[in-house]
Amino acid sequence: MPNGNYLGFDVGGTKITSVLASSDGKVKKRVEVKTRKLKGVPDLISQISAIGKQFDDYEGIGVIFPSPISNKGVAIFAPNLMGWNGINIKKKLGEAFHRDVYVENDATAQAISVKLYDKGRKYKNFVYLVIGTGIGGGIFINDEIYRGGNGYAGELGHTVVLTNGPVCGCGRRGCIESLASGRSLARRAAENSREIRNSPFLSSIPLERLSAEDLFSGRELGDPFCTLLVDETVYYLSVAISNYINEFDPEAIFLGGGLMKNDPTLISELKESVDNELGKYYRDVPIIKVADRTVDLAPVALSVYETSRNRRDLTTH
Ligand SMILES: [Zn+2]
Repeated sequence: MPNGNYLGFDVGGTKITSVLASSDGKVKKRVEVKTRKLKGVPDLISQISAIGKQFDDYEGIGVIFPSPISNKGVAIFAPNLMGWNGINIKKKLGEAFHRDVYVENDATAQAISVKLYDKGRKYKNFVYLVIGTGIGGGIFINDEIYRGGNGYAGELGHTVVLTNGPVCGCGRRGCIESLASGRSLARRAAENSREIRNSPFLSSIPLERLSAEDLFSGRELGDPFCTLLVDETVYYLSVAISNYINEFDPEAIFLGGGLMKNDPTLISELKESVDNELGKYYRDVPIIKVADRTVDLAPVALSVYETSRNRRDLTTH
């Protein structure tokens, strides 16, 4: 791994976080600003490059962008930022910074961070799943992030676990994202207005404010409806994770995202449910929660990983 400092940007729908850190993950400087998300492509590029001017002396730049990113650096679908669909962000940022800029979606960059700065160090093959508002993923095979033919591999949230389930954002039915993400868990609860009225815990919360966190708290207090919904969610997640284990034979499954913060027993429940689900193909695959720091360092990890790969390619060709 090359020495020196690395710059990372996490461009989100609400804010841009930029971090300068050493290759071993020590944060040197951090800047956070609100995203100018509605003024179009040239404006956002100039906002990012202006932030970049606040940093100097770095070896590489990694950028997390809220869209699937093609192998060539094109943002395919960025619903939270205006005007970005089909734009080559890697090229535009490369021109603004006069150097290579590496761009990925958040889940792929976080998987790289698990490999560089978390327990992923110990494994050559693992699957990372991030369960937040949506569900994303990243796959390491033989010490390399797996990108597939066009750069879109690892869309693990769109694994169908219930063929007649709710319609997902992608258009299919019953994807794990449509059942177990924070947003869909709250939506599944809100669809049951009678159960909510009868629930001593949920009836006091306005429907539009209902969150996955409330459902976890309700389960902890023994609310029967919350218990049913959260238990069902654990089951759906364990079906998806068992599919990944059968497909990729990983040495470990890593989990990140907001849902993981809701209940300290969630990991052990999932492990038990996955073990049951695997049946005759049972293998003891550890399920490990990632540290908050790992997610924080994801754009820096992307920068370190790609810069070092690029240098290796230059020396071997
Ligand atoms: Zn889907």
